[in-house]
Amino acid sequence: MNNSIDEKIIKALEKLSLVIRTLLWDKTKQIGLSPIQIQFILFLVFHPDYETKVSTLAAEFNLTPATVSDAIRILTKKKLLMKIIPAHDKRIHYLKLTKKGTNLAREISSWQDSFLNQLHLFPDQQKEEAALFLMELITSLQKNGIIKIARMCISCEHFQKKARSTHQTTHYCKLTERYFSDSEITIDCSYYKNTAS
Ligand code: SF4
Repeated sequence: MNNSIDEKIIKALEKLSLVIRTLLWDKTKQIGLSPIQIQFILFLVFHPDYETKVSTLAAEFNLTPATVSDAIRILTKKKLLMKIIPAHDKRIHYLKLTKKGTNLAREISSWQDSFLNQLHLFPDQQKEEAALFLMELITSLQKNGIIKIARMCISCEHFQKKARSTHQTTHYCKLTERYFSDSEITIDCSYYKNTAS
C-alpha cells in the first residue's frame, strides 16, 4: 500500500467529503428535498446579491441546464424560490429565495453544526495554515481545469498577494480597496473575477 503524503491527503479528503455528504443527506431526509435542491438553496442564501441564473447553477454544480431547470421547477412550486425578471432585459430571469426558502436555508445550515463543533477544538494557526493549503490546492485544480469555479481571492484578478510586507494584513483587494490577512482570504466571493476572463 502506498502511504505517500499525497495519497493520505486524497484519502482524508475522500473521508471528509463522505462525512459532508452524509450530514447533508440526513438533512434531505428530514426536509423532503433532494441533495441538489438543498445545495441550490444554500448557494442562493449565501449569494444574496449574486445575479444567479440557471446557467450559473449549472456551471457551479457541473450539471446540465435541463437538470437544474427540473430542480428549480420543484423549488418554485414549493414556493421556496421565485424568478426575478430584470427591467432591462425581459428575456432573462434571476433566481431568488422567497422568505419561506430563506427560513428553510437557515434550518438546513444546521447540518454543519457537528462539523463546526469539532473544528472549534483546533488552534487558529493550524486551521489558517490548513485553509490556505486547501485554497492553494483548489486554485491549482482550477488552473488545470479539474475544478471549474472556485471564486477565491488567490485566483482572483482583484487580488494582490503580499501587497505590503510590514503588516499582518498583507494582502490587498483592488475592488474593495481593503488589506487583509491570510485568515481573511475569501472563498466563494460574489465579486470574484477570474484572472483568465
Ligand atoms: S473581489 Fe473577492 S475574491 Fe477577489 S480579491 Fe476581492 S475579496 Fe478576494
